Order: sequence, then C-alpha cells, then structure tokens
Amino acid sequence: MVICYLGIGANLGNRRKNIEEAIKKIKELKQTKVLKVSRLIQTKPVGGPSGQPDFLNAALKIQTRITPLNLLKELKTIEKELGRVKTVRNGPRTIDLDILFYGNKIIQSKVLTVPHPRMFAREFVLKPLAEVI
Ligand code: ADP
Ligand code: MG
Repeated sequence: MVICYLGIGANLGNRRKNIEEAIKKIKELKQTKVLKVSRLIQTKPVGGPSGQPDFLNAALKIQTRITPLNLLKELKTIEKELGRVKTVRNGPRTIDLDILFYGNKIIQSKVLTVPHPRMFAREFVLKPLAEVI
C-alpha cells in the first residue's frame, strides 16, 4: 500500500456536489482507502480565461495499491463520468483530479508528472493539502 495525496478542483455546475461525487467514486475504487478529506476551500481561478467562476478545492489522503498510471486512468474516468469536457488550458471544469504525491515516487513521463509540477506555488492546492498531510 502506498500513501498518496490527491487534489480536487471544480468551478462549474454544482461545485460542492461534483467534489462530493468524485470523493464517493474514489472511495469506491478497488484496493484503495480514503484516509483523510480536507474541507472545501473557495479560491480565485489562476490562469485560463478571465471571468471564469471561483473554484472549490479539496485534497485527499488515500492509501492504494493501484499503480500510478492506472490511478491516473481511474481519475480520468471519474472526471469523464462527472461530465468534464476538454476546453482551454486552465479553463473552467466540472471536476479536476490531480495526483499530487504518490508515496515518495518521482515520475516524469509524457502523461504523468509526480509530484505534481504546478502545485508548489498554488495556494489552492497547498491549503487543502496542509489539512490532510
Ligand atoms: P491541469 O490539472 O494542469 O489543470 P488537466 O487536468 O487538463 O490540467 O490535465 C492535463 C494532463 O495532465 C492530463 O491529461 C494528465 O495526463 C497530465 N498529468 C500530468 N501529471 C499529472 C498528475 N500528477 N495528476 C494528474 N494529471 C497529470
Ligand atoms: Mg488535472
């Protein structure tokens, strides 16, 4: 089992419901246990088109046996199920699920970079993460 931290963000639709639904689906993943859930915090969007709605963000501490690439796949499936559609970079989204840390692994592949490269300067990641670490 590996301890892993996930970041969640939503700024379209019923943001709270989208995040709760995502957490429920993560709890249902096989070989995975959700250990801690942060509060939801509201943040201003960073980058992307101007005028998009504020985000709600959360972070999770989980324990899993799913490999990093398969975990990414599972998270992308959940994003799709919750109706996320591709738009512009940093654009509005019903749900965004990111792998922040996967144990102490450093991963640099085309589809997956862990620790998440854009998290360190981002209050909207670090604030909820600090609650579950
Ligand atoms: P962002 O989360 O930066 O706003 P997206 O959610 O649109 O961007 O993700 C774009 C791509 O980033 C995904 O298709 C995924 O393959 C890749 N990616 C790289 N590293 C990670 C990571 N640690 N967690 C989630 N996705 C990642
Ligand atoms: Mg993402």
